[in-house]
Amino acid sequence: MAAALRSPGARFRWRARALWGGARGAAGQQDYDLLVIGGGSGGLACAKEAAQLGKKVAVVDYVEPSPRGTTWGLGGTCVNVGCIPKKLMHQAALLGTMIRDAPHYGWELAQPTPHSWRKMAEAVQNHVKSLNWGHRVQLQDRKVKYFNIKASFVNKHTVRGVTKDGKETLLSAEHIVIATGGRPRYPMHVEGALEYGITSDDIFWLKESPGKTHLSGCFVQAEAQEQGLVVGASYVALECAGFLTGLGLDTTIMMRSIPLRGFDQQMSSLVTEHMAAHGTRFLRGCIPLRVGRLPDGQLQVTWEDLTASKENTGTFDTVLWAVGRAPETGSLALEKAGVSTDPHSQKVLVDAQEATSVPHIFAIGDVAEGRPELTPTAVMAGKLLAQRLCHQSSDLMDYDNVPTTVFTPLEYGCVGLSEEAAVARHGQEHVEVYHAYYKPLEFTVAERDASQCYIKMVCLREPPQLVLGLHFLGPNAGEVTQGFALGIKCGTSYQQVMRTVGIHPTCAEEVAKLRISKRSGLDPTVTGC
Ligand code: FAD
Ligand code: NDP
Repeated sequence: MAAALRSPGARFRWRARALWGGARGAAGQQDYDLLVIGGGSGGLACAKEAAQLGKKVAVVDYVEPSPRGTTWGLGGTCVNVGCIPKKLMHQAALLGTMIRDAPHYGWELAQPTPHSWRKMAEAVQNHVKSLNWGHRVQLQDRKVKYFNIKASFVNKHTVRGVTKDGKETLLSAEHIVIATGGRPRYPMHVEGALEYGITSDDIFWLKESPGKTHLSGCFVQAEAQEQGLVVGASYVALECAGFLTGLGLDTTIMMRSIPLRGFDQQMSSLVTEHMAAHGTRFLRGCIPLRVGRLPDGQLQVTWEDLTASKENTGTFDTVLWAVGRAPETGSLALEKAGVSTDPHSQKVLVDAQEATSVPHIFAIGDVAEGRPELTPTAVMAGKLLAQRLCHQSSDLMDYDNVPTTVFTPLEYGCVGLSEEAAVARHGQEHVEVYHAYYKPLEFTVAERDASQCYIKMVCLREPPQLVLGLHFLGPNAGEVTQGFALGIKCGTSYQQVMRTVGIHPTCAEEVAKLRISKRSGLDPTVTGC
């Protein structure tokens, strides 16, 4: 490890090369075999793999501060403002539920049990910083050159980088990978959106709570007024609203249409039903119109209720926009390299090899058109691309049957087709759905409501009944779904799942006990153990 990386806080130094007149690299000798633009999940995985396979590799990464001024280190969205801080805050919220369970199991806890956002945020942020550091060390160990510069294309083989202080450098490479991800969108048509709202780029880095909490009974409860408004109803919105509610903040979700578009809608409804039953307020069929600041500092939001065709207002401490993400392609000057983007999404158009319209320039992860916006797909696509570039393998990334989990208070894990998609593809007559409402053992003594703990397996009807999709709503859904995803990837059938011996007593074993089909009309509630 380099001395510069040994002492925490030591600055990573690199010598910026002076920018010279004519751009080079259009043909002939290049600085690097591979240049990766973007040091996030996909870019880092690709760079490390290629370096390990003997290529001369450079990674450029630069974080443009959010409109609120939030910024972070190496590692991209997942590490800094995505999966990692989100899952840790979700865990903080789950612990709150366990504190409420604890007296049922004999724990005599001091009353009340307050939660400190400041302490949680500091611990989460310190962990994220350790990951930033770890990524830099890994690059150094694998001899990948790291440049903290904002990149844009000069021509097909050359990229210009600009540092925070405006210093410029040119880098050329035989192959270039675009892995610049995306950033949250602001609803710019909503007056005051940019001025008063925050996004997921800010929430995990707030030093103070986004809303006031007060103490009541054995647990922290929010004051009886609105505190936080989350606009949107997909992954980011539901997950953020879920942990904010779980931390005791009064949280409202403003949803214009359906929750979790693209997911199985029966499962999605159960997710929001559970959230509503556990304190998250829903404004359904509503769209935001304006945000302004009141003299007492609170934010006043005006929205339209589309069903009632009328305007309403409410006051909030924080407004979080979770209305989708925009790809980071705008400042890359892709036209100078001839790289095509989709005119609607602005994402980079790619083929099965992850190649763009320019054969030696590739795009992976969130920035690439038609790819799932998930860390493991970006990582695997990056590694496989590196292996192909190094002639180690010809394997292509398979984007089918990618498992995922929505980390709402009751987690929703799924892999494969939704019931709607299976019916649309194969026809109602050819689809069999097995399902069960179950009660996790740990809910019993704690007297927790399990109304939304539900599993369904979507299969072909003809024997051996190929499994098309699995949907699991309950504790540790990510852990449960990951294992079954292997089986489904391998083409498992319902019969094989039924021959799989369960692990008792777990929630996962309920999957291997799904006997009731929807078609039978029988009660799918599991009784007994
Ligand atoms: P990124 O990780 O976004 O990396 C791109 C990097 O490129 C960034 O560092 C960016 O600053 C840099 N960059 C951009 N432009 C330039 C430029 N011109 N020059 C230099 N550098 C540039 N996925 C999951 O699988 N599980 C989860 O639980 C999960 N939770 C999430 C929660 C939230 C709140 C969000 C927002 C996302 C979540 N995701 C999750 C999605 C996951 O974070 C992304 O799919 C993943 O990070 C995409 O990786 P990437 O390499 O494509 O891009
Ligand atoms: P999505 O694009 O999935 O969803 C955007 C949401 O905002 C939708 O509910 C949409 O409603 C709503 N919306 C859009 N525009 C407006 C508007 N003007 N006013 C009101 N509502 C609006 O974005 P996300 O940011 O939630 O997620 C992006 C991606 O990040 C996901 O696809 C996922 O792959 C990844 N991610 C993964 C996670 C995980 O693995 N656990 C967690 C978080 C993110 P409508 O449906 O009506 O269009």
